[in-house]
Parts: sequence; structure tokens; C-alpha cells
Amino acid sequence: MVFRVLDATAFYAGIPFVSNDSFMTTNTVYDEIQHIKRKQGALEMLQQTGRLQIRDPSKDSINVVRDAAERTGDSVTISEQDVSIIALALENKIGLITDDFAVTNIAKQLKIKTDSLMTQGINTVGKWISYCSICGKEFSKEKECPICGNKLNRKLIKKSI
Ligand SMILES: [Zn+2]
Repeated sequence: MVFRVLDATAFYAGIPFVSNDSFMTTNTVYDEIQHIKRKQGALEMLQQTGRLQIRDPSKDSINVVRDAAERTGDSVTISEQDVSIIALALENKIGLITDDFAVTNIAKQLKIKTDSLMTQGINTVGKWISYCSICGKEFSKEKECPICGNKLNRKLIKKSI
């Protein structure tokens, strides 16, 4: 079975639920997407059938990714979650599905194959926003919540047409 690594956006876009492929992700991503309540049954099913594996990369792989991020100048923009999925792809020598520019950039540096959501037949017309999971407020450029200092999460918002 060929696996590919998914980031949180790929889950939000529904990739694993519309595809017959097999996927891997890390615990930090899985923790974030757990709240997609209406998909919980589907997430369990994917895990029971072995089509979704939750694994965490080794410290060594994480360090390799952090070094690469330093080289590409992306070290300030990427989150722990981003680092974890790149490291997981690196460690298992598999591709990565992501629309995140910094993630794609670092993956390229490490010769990891990346696919955007678009090439998966998913048209992500939307924009990225950062939000604070504590205050529930949305921000555009900040990495940390200006109100409480919590690290912001990112999500893709569909544009209303
Ligand atoms: Zn906050």
C-alpha cells in the first residue's frame, strides 16, 4: 500500500473521505482535526480499515526538517504541526499533500514529493486565516494571539461566491 501524508487542510478539504488511497498523519494534526464532528465516524472507519495511520516522526527527522527550514528561511512561519508532517513524509519516504507554501518549500528542499489539493481534484477557492482556539478570534498575519499569546491555528476558509 502506498501512503501519503496529509496536513490538516487536506482533512478539512475531505481528501481521505473521497479517496480510496491510504494516508498517514501525525498526532498533532489528528488532535486538530478531531473536532470535525460530523466526520468522526468516517475517521474511525479509516483507521479501522488501516487506510489512515497516525504516527509520529523521530526526533532525528524533526531536526532534519528544522535545519531545512532554517535554510529556506521558513523557520519562523512553520508550526510544530507543519514540521511533524514533513518529518513523517521524510522518514517514510512518501509524498505529502498540502497547500501550505512554507511546507511545500521545505519539502522541496528535502526532495519530498508534494501534491497540492488542487491536483487531487479539490478546488480550494478560499483564503487562509489564523485563529486562536482559546479566544475564538481570527487574525490574518499574526503567528500568536495578540490577546492571550496562544499559538494560532490556521484554517482554509471557503470564499462565498
Ligand atoms: Zn487568544
